[in-house]
Amino acid sequence: MNTEVCDEIHEECGVFGIYDLDRHDVASTIYYGLFALQHRGQESCGIAVSDTYGPKGKVQSYKGMGLANEVFTQENLEKMKGDIGVGHVRYSTAGASTIENAQPLVLNYVKGTLALAHNGNLINANELRHDLEYTGAIFQTTIDSEVIAYHIARERLKTGTVEEAVRRAASKMRGAYSLVVMSPRKLIGARDPYGFKPLCIGKRDNAYIITSETCALDTIGAEFVRDVLPGEVVTISQDGQISSDTSNCLPKGQEARCIFEYIYFARPDSRCDGISIYESRTRAGAFLAQDSPVEADLVVGVPESGNPAAQGYAMASGIPYGTAFIKNGYVGRTFIKPKQSSRESSVRIKLNVLKKSVEGKRIIMIDDSIVRGTTSGRIVSMLREAGAKEVHVRISSPPFLWPCYFGTDIPAREQLIAYNKTIDEICQELGADSLGYLKVERLSELVDGLPICKGCFTGEYPMEPPKEDIRGEYEK
Ligand code: SF4
Repeated sequence: MNTEVCDEIHEECGVFGIYDLDRHDVASTIYYGLFALQHRGQESCGIAVSDTYGPKGKVQSYKGMGLANEVFTQENLEKMKGDIGVGHVRYSTAGASTIENAQPLVLNYVKGTLALAHNGNLINANELRHDLEYTGAIFQTTIDSEVIAYHIARERLKTGTVEEAVRRAASKMRGAYSLVVMSPRKLIGARDPYGFKPLCIGKRDNAYIITSETCALDTIGAEFVRDVLPGEVVTISQDGQISSDTSNCLPKGQEARCIFEYIYFARPDSRCDGISIYESRTRAGAFLAQDSPVEADLVVGVPESGNPAAQGYAMASGIPYGTAFIKNGYVGRTFIKPKQSSRESSVRIKLNVLKKSVEGKRIIMIDDSIVRGTTSGRIVSMLREAGAKEVHVRISSPPFLWPCYFGTDIPAREQLIAYNKTIDEICQELGADSLGYLKVERLSELVDGLPICKGCFTGEYPMEPPKEDIRGEYEK
C-alpha cells in the first residue's frame, strides 16, 4: 500500500506558531507554514492571531474543513491582524472530523485568552477530562486539545507565569504531544518527554517560529535555530529571548521518537532531531538491498515516500532506478473516497503505470508499508498488466503488527495483513514474485541510534499502553 494512495494511515496534525517582535502581521506567514505542513493533515485547518500590544482577550481566529488553500482567502487572511499567532492542520484520529474539532482551540479565561494547536494523542485524555468535568468544566469539543487547554488555564490560576502553567499541565499528560500555545504576550512550545512528534524552532529577522517540521521554516524563508528537546517547554517573550524549562525531560536515552515520522510521515526535505528524513529513507532502501537482494532490471518507488527508499536500494544494489508510476496530484479532500469494496479502482484514479518503463522488465517495487494489503496487491497487478516480467516487493518498514496509541491511525490488528499471515502468504496474496520487509533491528540505524518508538512493529511501547482502544471514546 502507499498511505497517500489509499488513505489508510495518517499523521494526526501539524502545528505552526510565530511571534514577530517587529510587530508585522503574521496570519499570511502562518498560512504558508500550514501549506508546507499540509501532508500532516488534510481534513481541517485554522489560524488564530492576536496583537501583543492590544487588549489581552482579543484573538481573531478562522477555521474550516479542507486544505489550507481551500479554507483561506487573501481577504480573510488580511482581516486577521496580529503579531503573534498559531496555526494547525488536522487529520482526526481522536475526535470526529468536524468544524468544532478543528484547531487552533481558543479559550477565554480570567487571565486572558489562550490559543492552542496540538499534534499527538494523549493516552490519559479521558481521565484528565473527567477530572475537569467533576469540577464544572463544560467541553465544546471531543478533542484532547481542549482538555490540555483547560488544564493550562486551571494551572495558570495557581502559577506566576503561563509557561509554568504549560509545564505543570504537561507533567499531567501521558502520551504524545507537540504543542504551540499563544498567550496574550508569549508564544510557548512544548514537546512530550518521549519526543514522539517533532517540534523545532526557527527565526526570520525578528520573528520566532515554533513548528512541527523544518520544511515549514524553509518555506517561509526562516532559518532553523534548533529542535525543541523531548520534554522541554520553550517560551518566546517580548524581549526576544528563548527561555527553556527542561524539568519535564526524561534522562537521556529514554526518549521514544516515532520512527514512522522518518519512514513515512515527515516530508523528505525536513530534518527531525538532526536526522535528514530523506537520508533515513534512502538508508532504509540500502538496508533492503543488503538484507533482501534480488536480481532485477529496475528499481521503482511507489510515490511519494517509496521514492527515496527506491533510490537507496538502487544505489546500494547497482540496479538502475526508474519511474514506474505517475501520480495524480489533484486528489484533494473533496475526492469521493470509494468504499472498501471499491478501493481497487481508487488506486487507478490516483496512480498510473508508465508502461514504457516497466514492459518486459524484472521490477523491484519499493513502498513504505503494507497495512491491509489490498492496495499493494492492486499496484503489483497494475505493473504486471503493463508488461512487467517479475515484480519483487520491498517494504521500507517492518510488518505492522500492533496498534498505535500516540496519534497514528493504524487499524485494528485483525485488519493488518501481517497479523495472521507469514511473509510467504502475504507475498502470495499480493501476487508478487518475492517480498522483503525492513528488519526491526535496522530501525534505529535509520536515525543514527536515536532512541525510538517502534511499538506498532514490536508491541513494546515506551509506556504502558491503555487497556483498551480509547480513540474516539467521546464520540460514543
Ligand atoms: S507505535 Fe508506531 S506509529 Fe505509533 S508512535 Fe510508535 S512508532 Fe510511531
